Amino acid sequence: MPSRSVKIVNSLKSARGQEFLRRRAFPAAIPFLTLAFWAAFGEFGLLMAATLLPLPFLLAPLKAASQAEKDEADFDGLTGLLLQTALERRMDAQMAHLTDVGNATATFSIKIDGFARLRENHGDQTAEEVLRVLANRIRSALRSKDIVARSGDSAFLVSLDPVPNMDLETAIQMANRFQASIEESIPLQMASIYVTCSIGFCLSSRLNRPSATAMIQGAEMAMSEARLSGTSNIRAYTADMGRKVISRRKTQSEAARTLQKDQIKAWFQPQISTDTGEVTGFEVLARWEHPERGILAPVQFLDVLNQTGQMGELADLMTRQALNAVRAWDDAGFHVPCVGVNFAGDELRSPTLVERIQWELDRNELDASRLGIEVLESVIAGAPDDMVVRNVEAIAKLGCNIDLDDFGTGHASISSIRRLPVKRIKIDRSFVTNVDRDTDQQKMIAAIVTLAERLDLSTLAEGVENAAEHAMMSQLGCAHVQGFGIARPMPFEDTIKWMEDHKAKLGPAIQIGQKSG
Ligand code: C2E
Ligand code: CA
Ligand code: CA
Repeated sequence: MPSRSVKIVNSLKSARGQEFLRRRAFPAAIPFLTLAFWAAFGEFGLLMAATLLPLPFLLAPLKAASQAEKDEADFDGLTGLLLQTALERRMDAQMAHLTDVGNATATFSIKIDGFARLRENHGDQTAEEVLRVLANRIRSALRSKDIVARSGDSAFLVSLDPVPNMDLETAIQMANRFQASIEESIPLQMASIYVTCSIGFCLSSRLNRPSATAMIQGAEMAMSEARLSGTSNIRAYTADMGRKVISRRKTQSEAARTLQKDQIKAWFQPQISTDTGEVTGFEVLARWEHPERGILAPVQFLDVLNQTGQMGELADLMTRQALNAVRAWDDAGFHVPCVGVNFAGDELRSPTLVERIQWELDRNELDASRLGIEVLESVIAGAPDDMVVRNVEAIAKLGCNIDLDDFGTGHASISSIRRLPVKRIKIDRSFVTNVDRDTDQQKMIAAIVTLAERLDLSTLAEGVENAAEHAMMSQLGCAHVQGFGIARPMPFEDTIKWMEDHKAKLGPAIQIGQKSG
């Protein structure tokens, strides 16, 4: 048992003890100290007392100011959340006694999907407002002792106060809670915005020696893993994730050589008419059919192909496979009016593009109207360069259809749309999500459809995920729909069976329609 005097000394050493000494005990003792100095050293003592005793009071504000500056440096000016370094310090303190008392904790890395694009499309001010709203939402989903920080432009870190019962189930529930609150509509001045987020988390029980750095690394690794599977995913850190990261790096260098190996294939996603329900086309989406890792989405290889200058080859490959598919559908008795191929900005600058497209059409004896070219709105926004304009015009002159992809995200001016021979706009998924329930979304779609009608353009809604969104898009006058609610992208081999099933489903519906009409 510590003695009473030891306890008093200890309590005086603590921060509160020192504050007590500085504010109360020391000033009270000044007269006594002055007398003691005078008694011991005479006039010289008096001089010393007058010079030295006020010093602690003069220096205290300086110390307080530097502490305030330090505190300020710990916080993010925009969201008011801690910064990552400050979070790490607090986590270390929190975790020091973790295993002694049998508690566990979890760290979450939360990343807003596509935030750079949101900033590009809506501007800095809106992006900052969105971050502030999301920071508040995360904070209000936490208890007072949990710690949250902003890390990087559009990511957050959360570390929970250690508790005895922090297990996988509880962590998943927490992640779901963060995700649900982040993905709710964000009301802004003009309209609401929807964002999705990817979350990775690391449980301290999964690490041999949990430390702040290890927990954050684990959570961030899990978050990167979640992002690889698309948007709005949640992943838990597992010990083999480190190995996967190494294997992924290998995959990327392999991707650079993969086009030659015939592993990149065109997959097909159907587009249907909201009027008749009939198939009006398919969009071609590239998939890497990897012998060990399964089917990989473009996000895992497009960057590498771009960096190694192979986008042209990809476009050729996709066009070839797209037109082969049209030929095969025709031969099997299925009429698919048009197949759409995506072209990156760089590829649209190729001086030989038009000839190559013409050659592929001729080789398959197909009319040019059977091929559509999808050009991103961002490519023609502002002042599209001469080569792009020349190529797009020449492709349209051949008779191919030009679709403006991701419409509503790239700020193309109406005059640039008019200048180019665009036939149809593909309304971006961000306007379609929740359109059945959100009146702001409905107003945006109604405005886009009216604009398209006035400009004599057709419309297609992307990312239609369910029957309710499909019905609303149809009601709002959008001519075509595409999305998981109709079908996911599929390999060529599955397309004929899908069209047969679709036709069978459509048959009775059309008959009912005809009887009642
Ligand atoms: P995109 O052109 O906007 O293609 C639509 C993307 O949305 C596809 O992703 C598709 O799988 C996905 N999607 C379709 N319906 C839904 C839905 O209902 N919900 C959700 N959440 N997503 C849906 P994917 O295949 O991963 O392609 C991503 C992007 O990669 C494409 O976006 C396109 O810009 C690019 N891309 C794909 N293939 C090619 C290609 O051959 N060449 C070029 N240059 N770019 C390509
Ligand atoms: Ca597209
Ligand atoms: Ca698109």
